[in-house]
Amino acid sequence: MTASPIAIPAFNDNYIWAFHQQDQCVVVDPGDAAPVERYLSENGLSLSALLITHHHPDHVGGIAALIKDRDIPVYGPAAESIPAMSHPLRDGDTVTPAGTDLSFSVMAVPGHTLGHIAFINAAQGWLFCGDTLFAGGCGRLFEGTPEQMLHSLRRLAALPDTTQVFCAHEYTQANLTFAAAVTPEDPAVQARLQAVIDLRQKGKITLPSTLAEEKATNPFLRSDDKDLKDSCQRHEPGCGDSDMQCFAALRRWKDNF
Ligand code: ZN
Ligand code: FE
Repeated sequence: MTASPIAIPAFNDNYIWAFHQQDQCVVVDPGDAAPVERYLSENGLSLSALLITHHHPDHVGGIAALIKDRDIPVYGPAAESIPAMSHPLRDGDTVTPAGTDLSFSVMAVPGHTLGHIAFINAAQGWLFCGDTLFAGGCGRLFEGTPEQMLHSLRRLAALPDTTQVFCAHEYTQANLTFAAAVTPEDPAVQARLQAVIDLRQKGKITLPSTLAEEKATNPFLRSDDKDLKDSCQRHEPGCGDSDMQCFAALRRWKDNF
């Protein structure tokens, strides 16, 4: 039995996910080395590999310091420039991070960045999706198009409902506040928002979520929903009523929310 991934908080709202087998620990998107080193030493773990989803500094900033005195692999997206990357990965690749027998499939999920990848362990039901899918939301389109992001999110949403979503930021409350503004009458959105507010008031993490929850309440996975489309039309008359146009309008709306 493999223990669930642990969130190491970093910066204001990042989570660096860590999982281990015996004393071998794999870390995902180490934007900062110091909190990772603290976690390793407090738990008697040794770092065996790094998984990287995309090139943004808050996801790669700790790599150089973490590998300085260690000979460990850095798995990341082949289409992006990642410091010290030893194993460039592409869509459809499979990788078993050093120190574990856990096999991950790699999915290309362009949109937030063009080379962004996600790591999926089907046996455990784990999804490390970086800044692509968030609890209640999705990443900003810094490099990709709405078409690319919608396609990426649909591929993620096609994973089993029980899949646990280990995204890289604590944005859930702001995302669900937006979701509640888009579909104010939706009881599932309201209930989730309230549950998340309660968790945050206690200083607790809101992750992981499940894909089932995301499909029920995340507006960016529901651009085919009639009520949601109507809401986009009211917010931005003439935005169009295809799923793609609705998704693009939602993303614009959230960018200025
Ligand atoms: Zn990012
Ligand atoms: Fe980020």
